[in-house]
Amino acid sequence: MKRSVVILYRDFCDEWFDILKKGEFNTLGLHFIPSENSMEEYLQWLSERGRALIGRAEAMGVQVEHELHAFRYLLPREMFAEKPEYFRMNAAGERSADFNLCASSGALAVVEERAYDLARRLRQSGHDYYLWADDVAEDCFCHCPACAGEKPSAQYLKILKSILAGLKKYGAHARLCYLGYGAILTPPDGEIPEDIFLEFAPFWRKLQSPMQAEENRESAALLGVLLKKFPAHSAEILDYWLDESMHSGWGKNPLSRLPYAENVLKADFGYYMDLGVRAVKTFGTYLGKEYLAQFGDREIADYGKLLKKMQEKKEKEL
Ligand SMILES: [Zn+2]
Repeated sequence: MKRSVVILYRDFCDEWFDILKKGEFNTLGLHFIPSENSMEEYLQWLSERGRALIGRAEAMGVQVEHELHAFRYLLPREMFAEKPEYFRMNAAGERSADFNLCASSGALAVVEERAYDLARRLRQSGHDYYLWADDVAEDCFCHCPACAGEKPSAQYLKILKSILAGLKKYGAHARLCYLGYGAILTPPDGEIPEDIFLEFAPFWRKLQSPMQAEENRESAALLGVLLKKFPAHSAEILDYWLDESMHSGWGKNPLSRLPYAENVLKADFGYYMDLGVRAVKTFGTYLGKEYLAQFGDREIADYGKLLKKMQEKKEKEL
């Protein structure tokens, strides 16, 4: 069973090795915020510093995964001048390089090629890939005549199939996540390829209450619908319990100590595991040197230990 915390690459400092150990995490996710960093910067960090840090984590038995908004890399925005038809048509009928891409165009071949290239550059040890669409909740998919009949989730799945084809040229066992988030929280129709698994990020949930509480009814219902389409045993939850960026209003407020609501955590872990989900992850953005120096790591370590305890209990039941 996976226990992961997804942090910003720029927050990956030496202190994290101790936290991973204390919190008994077996997986670490690395991430960047697209408005603050680009994939090229991420890849540069990887070759200069990141690979050594990743090696150290993996030597401790912690698998490192890259959880990345990747569509802007997979279809470089500079191609717009030459190939506007590869980009999405907005609701006003204009081609635009603002978000994502046209899922009925030659963009798919570019995406496939670039996914292979990205896999080569990431050189990750595991087979699970997390190459997400753009980080927008509103209208961000294609309205061209060929795409208009397909809802965002169907367009997204089409793009994922091209990405997966590229990844499989690098490694035959590659698997790719379908990120249930934003505009693509509703499942696509039709068959889901075996190597595409669900990663569910309940951005709108209220963290003060468990997922089964009335105020989280909508988020829970969305997950229920997704799990009718995607098998629960391969699905992953990416929740927000340790998300300091959310907690601090995405930089609007100063960093402040993460809350630790054990009753919510217990209820949520139990809820997700009872649905059959085996991988429980949380965002942990803004948990870098600055946060750790001020507030320490107790909440992070306690979170990890509690999750491990509950997963072990569940494993015994199964
Ligand atoms: Zn289109």
